[in-house]
Amino acid sequence: MTLTMTPSTTAQQIATRLLESERPLLIAHPRPDGDTAGSALALRLALIALGKSPTVACVDPLNSNLTYLPGAEAMVSDVGQDAAIDLVAAIDMSDLKRTGGIYRDDWRSSIPLVVIDHHETNDAFGDVNLVRPDAAATAFPIIEVINALGVEMTPDMATCLLVAILTDTRGLRTSGTTPEVLRTVSQLIEAGGRYQEVMEKSLNSVPFEQMRAWGIALQRLHLDGELAWTTFPLSEKLAMGIEDHDDLDLGNFISRVAEAQVIVTFIEMRDGTVKISFRSRPNHNVAPIAYELGGGGHRQAAGCSVPGPLDEAVARALSLVRETLYGDA
Ligand code: 5GP
Ligand code: MN
Repeated sequence: MTLTMTPSTTAQQIATRLLESERPLLIAHPRPDGDTAGSALALRLALIALGKSPTVACVDPLNSNLTYLPGAEAMVSDVGQDAAIDLVAAIDMSDLKRTGGIYRDDWRSSIPLVVIDHHETNDAFGDVNLVRPDAAATAFPIIEVINALGVEMTPDMATCLLVAILTDTRGLRTSGTTPEVLRTVSQLIEAGGRYQEVMEKSLNSVPFEQMRAWGIALQRLHLDGELAWTTFPLSEKLAMGIEDHDDLDLGNFISRVAEAQVIVTFIEMRDGTVKISFRSRPNHNVAPIAYELGGGGHRQAAGCSVPGPLDEAVARALSLVRETLYGDA
């Protein structure tokens, strides 16, 4: 079956580039979430159906709640110098830094770069840019491209896309969950997408160690007016054996503090930098805050990495948030 989404001219341009390519490289962003991984793996399956030889790369491994995704085992953390790549697609990322170093500068002059994304902070860094800031997940522009390629939706492709949509909408709970999103989810289930499995494995399963780490983060939770935040220092990560690529899904977990309009999570990394996640209630836009700090994202979910030490990163970010909330620091 084919989903009822008419491809835009830009989607058709990307499909044309993909059809001309034999060995496209699809890049997912670091600390891969369900949207970047599910979108890239769905497009991979569509390209395989066309007889292409796509590669999906991400510098970091998938967390255990995503490893069941069809094609997950084929993901690589880098591509060799001599890999005969003839196109690069950046999936679910707003700038070139977010390829995590997989993208090589010398490709710029020789290989087309296409961008498929939904971040409002996207700086259109590709040769062709399909950016849908209103879409609830990158899965939506991906469906446009799959339709433009003329490929039928299979149960495995639909499952990858359900993962993308259900995780980026936090289980159909964010303000971007429109009737169109629900219609698309229905169509993906009709196409054979395994909704129950996705809900169970990606949204309803938390590894024991992650749950214990949440306990530590909860003990360190602060609330000041409409601002809530928590920190996860490196010492706690080392004590628990938590790797840097694991963000514990802490930003989403902490985002539910009822009194808060903006919720911020700080995770200290082994290189001294601090990974910040911003979350907000519908009336507050955190994307500009993350952008100002060198990152990006959406109105209600954005992030960045800043230099440490942890205390200084906290002071800097919270003062920006307070400016947004109250108009002064
Ligand atoms: P999270 O807080 O879950 O890491 O990310 C929330 C949103 O912000 C996601 O859409 C993610 O792609 C984006 N984001 C997170 N960190 C960065 C970053 O360092 N740079 C950019 N450009 N976007 C980021
Ligand atoms: Mn996304």
